[in-house]
Amino acid sequence: MPDTRPMNWARNITFSAAAVHRPATADALRRLVADSPHVRVLGSGHSFNRVADVDGDRDGALVSLGGLPGTVDVDAAARTVRVGGGVRYAELAARLHAHGLALPNMASLPHISVAGSVATGTHGSGNGNASLAEAVRAVEIVTADGGTVTLARGDAGFEGAVVSLGALGVVLSLTLDVQPAYPVSQHVFRELPFQGLDFEAVTAAAYSVSLFTKWRGPHFDQVWLKQRHPHAAGPAVDFPWAEPATEKQHPVPGMPAVNCTEQFGVPGPWHERLPHFRAEFTPSSGDELQSEYLLPRGHALAALAALDGVRDRIAPVLQVCEVRTVAADTQWLSPAYGRDTVAFHFTWVADTGRVLPVVSLVEDRLREFDPRPHWGKVFTVAPARVAARYPGVADFAALAERLDPAGKFTNAFVRQVVARA
Ligand SMILES: Cc1cc2nc3c(=O)[nH]c(=O)nc-3n(C[C@H](O)[C@H](O)[C@H](O)COP(=O)(O)OP(=O)(O)OC[C@H]3O[C@@H](n4cnc5c(N)ncnc54)[C@H](O)[C@@H]3O)c2cc1C
Repeated sequence: MPDTRPMNWARNITFSAAAVHRPATADALRRLVADSPHVRVLGSGHSFNRVADVDGDRDGALVSLGGLPGTVDVDAAARTVRVGGGVRYAELAARLHAHGLALPNMASLPHISVAGSVATGTHGSGNGNASLAEAVRAVEIVTADGGTVTLARGDAGFEGAVVSLGALGVVLSLTLDVQPAYPVSQHVFRELPFQGLDFEAVTAAAYSVSLFTKWRGPHFDQVWLKQRHPHAAGPAVDFPWAEPATEKQHPVPGMPAVNCTEQFGVPGPWHERLPHFRAEFTPSSGDELQSEYLLPRGHALAALAALDGVRDRIAPVLQVCEVRTVAADTQWLSPAYGRDTVAFHFTWVADTGRVLPVVSLVEDRLREFDPRPHWGKVFTVAPARVAARYPGVADFAALAERLDPAGKFTNAFVRQVVARA
């Protein structure tokens, strides 16, 4: 019999549930939660590990909020938006833009759900840009008995409520801060050598900077600069370290550039430039695994050198590696918690057997730099070691105990890092 259980986007994970529940109303969702012994929410399924899974031995309900009305309530006067727990960034961004409003930043793709993204600490790039969770000002959570708890910025425990790994309850809605819409232009440069790299200056050259290497040599193959207007209206952008690309680029070798957002400095709406990939196309390569490690930004050059020492091992299983920066944030379980960060991302080939030994090797090379793995990607670091890298992990465990005393919303992945009393 073929295995018909649901899978994640990358199809490297088969979930332990037989099917995904899709309640059509909030009331139906509350009843399902109250009546189920164990519940996990599946967002858009873009994580590469079992963070969203139910425990196979607990008769768990895996729930999608994709069947609920896609609430996007804009309060232009208050500069906030209330977003339903199943809404994706593509829908949110288009609605905000229609109101002349914007988010401060986006991830590389708009296909992902807002609730699922902030739950894993998803981020974009920019020395001054914090992770996407930092825009959240309130979270409305359906708890184990089907009731509701709302935690807002300033409330006790709010620092654990957004990057929650889905372990506190079902996020029914999030309220986000928004700001006036702004244009962005995107420029791509080629061949930036590691030799003599002024990391701070390069990553400060635009609002959001991404550095891509295939680890085939000691250089970045591409540099993507996203410049927020009015600072760089028109084609002029000051990047003296590399040559501008003469053709439109895709960061993954062999993939069509048409899948990517506009380049060559053509100004456009914020949500059509900040992601690398266009909403109507497959993002990235579509046939891949991903890992990412976030470390204190001051270690950027030393970490780059450490990885360069094993590039012959990395390159054969790599599609592309992206280096970004993220500003410190305040969420206890955010990989950028409390420290300005550099993030080393790896898009691997879709071959777990070949990739995992190299993931471990990368972790060995980065270990001395206090890396925190991205919660939504592949990692092999021992859970106890991961937990030790989060000063707020005990506070998070206490919050989970308070909101979900019976552990209805926890799973094996979460239990490995968050030890509960
Ligand atoms: C092609 C690609 C590109 C990516 N680019 C980036 C990037 O640029 N930056 C980055 O940081 N990451 C990136 N990621 C990783 C991605 O952002 C994370 O995996 C993110 O969690 C995906 O959101 P999702 O909705 O698919 O979450 P899922 O994988 O579905 O779920 C993630 C977690 O959120 C929980 N959750 C989801 N919705 C709810 C809810 N309503 N209530 C309670 N819990 C909920 C789940 O239980 C789970 O624990 C990328 C992934 C892919 C596939």
